[in-house]
Amino acid sequence: MDKLRKLLRDGETALCVHFTNDQEEKILAFVRLLHEANERLNLTGFKTEEAILTEGVLDSLTASTFSHILGKTANLIDVGTGGGIPGIPLKIVYPTMQLALLEATAKKCRFLEEAVRTLELEDVSILCGRAETLAHDPALRERFALATARALGELREILELTIPFVRPQGFALYYKGQNAQKEVKEAQNALSILKSTVVALQSVSVPFLPRKTTLILVGKEAPTPPQYPRRPGIPKKRPL
Ligand code: SAH
Repeated sequence: MDKLRKLLRDGETALCVHFTNDQEEKILAFVRLLHEANERLNLTGFKTEEAILTEGVLDSLTASTFSHILGKTANLIDVGTGGGIPGIPLKIVYPTMQLALLEATAKKCRFLEEAVRTLELEDVSILCGRAETLAHDPALRERFALATARALGELREILELTIPFVRPQGFALYYKGQNAQKEVKEAQNALSILKSTVVALQSVSVPFLPRKTTLILVGKEAPTPPQYPRRPGIPKKRPL
């Protein structure tokens, strides 16, 4: 068995999940594709296939801890997806879910198009633009059961960039590090304006890495006031 496949298998064991052969093939193909494209286009900070698999893919799949939610999620929007993380690994593992990948940088969107075509992923749309703008499009606003974001910014900022896409009673899932508790405290105002609450905060070990990922699950209780998100750049410059 080649090294990368062994790493994936061991990662599955550590995460207490089990994928089909077809899912494993797709995950490995995605890792190789992102690695190869990264050398040409500089899409992500992960330098090796092993790093993409562990720090990117296995980290994305720590969300399996919420499989009771993911398993019945009809559609997911991954905001600031970059090279497709966590959206593409989640789509491979939960194939019935419709996926929208939202990304501001055109060259990353081109890679995403190529990846979706090569991996033959169905029901995936690529939205190239800024979250602040696209969240006001009636076809996208409050249309998703779940939004995800990883490495997009601090919590109070990314709440404004993601919650408007979520339908009332839907969820948002954020991948965070050690500072999660502090970010939750600082996000109280944003949560209240955006009519959302933290429903779970869970630290999960990432296989083969010394660090843990803290997953923050937020529930949206009521529609987002129409003025949010504010203009491009404002959520970061003047977080709620
Ligand atoms: N989620 C990926 C990428 C993180 S880097 C991962 O975990 O590897 C953040 C990405 O979000 C970048 O690709 C950047 O272009 C994109 N981004 C940042 N702000 C954005 C915004 N307001 N709207 C859409 N995309 C944004």
